[in-house]
Amino acid sequence: MYQTHTDVTRELADLKQQAKANERIWGGFRSIEISAIGAETFQQLVYKVVHGIREAFPKVSQVTLACLNLDYEIVRILEQCRGSRDSLAHFIMLNDDELSRWFSHAPRPILGACSPAACKRFFPRARRPVRSMALSPLVASGKLLGCLAQGSEDPRHFTKETGTELLEHLSATIALCIRNTVNVTRLERHGLTDPLTDVPNRRFLERRMGEEIERCRRYGRPLSCVMLDIDYFKKINDRYGHSVGDRVLKGVADTLHDGLRASDILSRYGGEEFVLLLPETNLGHGVKIAQRHHRKLGSLAFDVEKAEQLNITVSAGVAVLEHVAADYGVDVGHWLLQQSDEALYQAKREGRNRVVAAG
Ligand code: GH3
Ligand code: MG
Ligand code: MG
Repeated sequence: MYQTHTDVTRELADLKQQAKANERIWGGFRSIEISAIGAETFQQLVYKVVHGIREAFPKVSQVTLACLNLDYEIVRILEQCRGSRDSLAHFIMLNDDELSRWFSHAPRPILGACSPAACKRFFPRARRPVRSMALSPLVASGKLLGCLAQGSEDPRHFTKETGTELLEHLSATIALCIRNTVNVTRLERHGLTDPLTDVPNRRFLERRMGEEIERCRRYGRPLSCVMLDIDYFKKINDRYGHSVGDRVLKGVADTLHDGLRASDILSRYGGEEFVLLLPETNLGHGVKIAQRHHRKLGSLAFDVEKAEQLNITVSAGVAVLEHVAADYGVDVGHWLLQQSDEALYQAKREGRNRVVAAG
């Protein structure tokens, strides 16, 4: 059978249109991948994936990234962005069992009608009915770590017949990006955390000090600093051994941590020295807070040798930065630490087991 010239022309036009549509789809996927690879944090990654997909594919109205609590790191990431939860509005956390249940047949994309259960779980914010969906497993290094859920109001947008090659490629890239951003966060956190007590270290404090001083300057609010040191700690090591000393340090850190207000910043500054930065706190209030910690630490009792209990005392120095001049130098933080250190030294000289205010 011969095709007429018109038939051929029409077929060619159809093919051209198809090719253009494919190119658009391919380009969409490519731009989402490039954007995802550029994400520096997990929050950024969620944002880029969700908005990238919605921008490239307007028919996809719902996008959710669901993930396991990888090495407990995701929960910590969520805790850190208390103020900016919005950026994670399209994120949900799954547990192992639930995730494996969704992909019990095989870790392959599921496309087609959106069941009420899937809709409730993955698109809880959808205002209009989601009529078709694609759930793609996110697998990195052979491990299922989450899934990318997309929903459309168009029942024919995701069907069992839709090709999944590009989607699988995108999912593999996203999975690697998740691993990567979580690893970066973990490394950063480890670099800023004291491994023995699990509280932030001196490097973290120095970083936060700059931010708090800037806030103090901008809003004219006071910033108090408490430097706290365990009395005669060396004797504890000498008498009971290093592991008891370590236990005491951990107990002190936990007690200080439990007594913090939401905005207070605790750090292990040195061996048996801790620093508390208290934003929006004047000297009088700072002294009261230091005295409260001093009392709590003084009432701790550590089990040591048979039937023996060990008590400790601490000394503390408190100083305040009332206001920072607009042309402040970089050494204001250093000055504040030095003032509290001098007050601490005075507390030691006056007999230890006390709180002394600077000035
Ligand atoms: P003072 O009342 O003057 O503060 O006396 P001190 O004995 O507490 O202070 P000193 O600076 O003489 O000794 C501190 C000791 O803390 C010495 C050091 O071996 C010990 N230390 C520092 N870091 C650690 C640690 O991580 N674990 C243990 N067990 N000991 C530590
Ligand atoms: Mg000491
Ligand atoms: Mg010391």
